[in-house]
Amino acid sequence: MTAGTLIIDIDAAVANWRSLAARSHGATGATVKADAYGLDSTRLAPALARAGVRHFFVAQAQEGAPLRRALSPGLPIFVYGGHMDGDTDLIRDHALTPLLNSPAQFARHRQALPDHPFGIQLDSGMNRLGMEVDEWAGLREAALAAGPALIMSHLACSDDPADPMNRQQLDSFRAMTEGVSVPRSLAATGGVLLGRDWHFDLTRPGIGLYGGAPHTGARPVVRLDLPVIQTRQVQPGEAVGYGRAWQAKAPARIATVSAGYADGLIRALSGRATLWAGDTPCPIAGRVSMDLITVDVTHLDAVPEALSILGSHQGIDTLATAAGTIGYEILTSLGARYHRRYTGGAA
Ligand SMILES: *Cc1c(COP(=O)(O)O)cnc(C)c1O
Repeated sequence: MTAGTLIIDIDAAVANWRSLAARSHGATGATVKADAYGLDSTRLAPALARAGVRHFFVAQAQEGAPLRRALSPGLPIFVYGGHMDGDTDLIRDHALTPLLNSPAQFARHRQALPDHPFGIQLDSGMNRLGMEVDEWAGLREAALAAGPALIMSHLACSDDPADPMNRQQLDSFRAMTEGVSVPRSLAATGGVLLGRDWHFDLTRPGIGLYGGAPHTGARPVVRLDLPVIQTRQVQPGEAVGYGRAWQAKAPARIATVSAGYADGLIRALSGRATLWAGDTPCPIAGRVSMDLITVDVTHLDAVPEALSILGSHQGIDTLATAAGTIGYEILTSLGARYHRRYTGGAA
């Protein structure tokens, strides 16, 4: 078997949700956009629903179709991107709840689907999605009369509790929603950890479910093992891989494993990241190629059949740091060639 094996621990994701739910005041939903951060929303969401998740969030209406088929009809699926031109059939047919981001989206939704549920997304300072203060002031009465299911906003800096932006956005969200009796939501994973003031009626963590920062103490959800195709001896002065980027200073042993940047192990990991032979770290030697990574295994007594790049020794954030990115990007980049095995999640 040449492809790597990606093992996704559904029970760990459920346990991570439970630990965030235990810290959330009010209800705790789940953000499963981008196919549950690349891990397969149709497998994870039903397990999360069995554990008690009652609200699901995706980014785009099209993501709601497979998710709806995996979930019972009564569980709301909110769409952060709102109601775009061309989304009406998807929203109606799959019973999705768009989070309307602008007066134009509100008008589109009310005209196309006057009796269909919707929510409102407000901009509390991030300047990415949602209605601005003056837009909302103009629309508020009509929007509230139409009975939104949820009013939400998103925090820009919640991964850093010390950032004053967290309090500013809280104040802004409070001011914009003062006196409304509609359920409110402000917190993703970082917001859950900021504390009760940020929780309102519903939190909507994503990355924390999948084992990523800032949910420190989360159980790792992914393990990725890469088969060793070949090992070879190299002599001092010999180089390894493209660009001769790694040179042996002493006799060395190199293992070539089967995965590369086409599988989401981005080229920025070249010469920086570590693979693991059981408990022993093995540094990448030279450049990551499209399908292959060369690893210095000189210090191993025996080279195992596979080396691990994600697992108990190295989580998504550690690997991300080596490449100068974040765990979210490592997860959502994981490629299509792996053998995917799901563990846990029994009904
Ligand atoms: C992605 C996203 C979330 C989930 O964020 P995490 O940091 O992964 O918990 C919540 N709300 C919105 C609007 C998002 O875009």
